[in-house]
Amino acid sequence: MANKMPDALAKRQFLNVYICMKCNGRVRASVDKIKKGKIKCRKCQSKQLRLKAKERRGQKA
Ligand SMILES: [Zn+2]
Repeated sequence: MANKMPDALAKRQFLNVYICMKCNGRVRASVDKIKKGKIKCRKCQSKQLRLKAKERRGQKA
């Protein structure tokens, strides 16, 4: 019971995490900044980022 993660919390955690499409680096930023194109990957400077949340589709535990 203690290990159960509330869905809302999980969503919030994933919502602000993006994955670089080039180097798979993680970038944490608000949706707002992403939409404005202010966020770049720290490693490769790529602006091609995707939501980490999408990763969960294929791998349901
Ligand atoms: Zn990158």
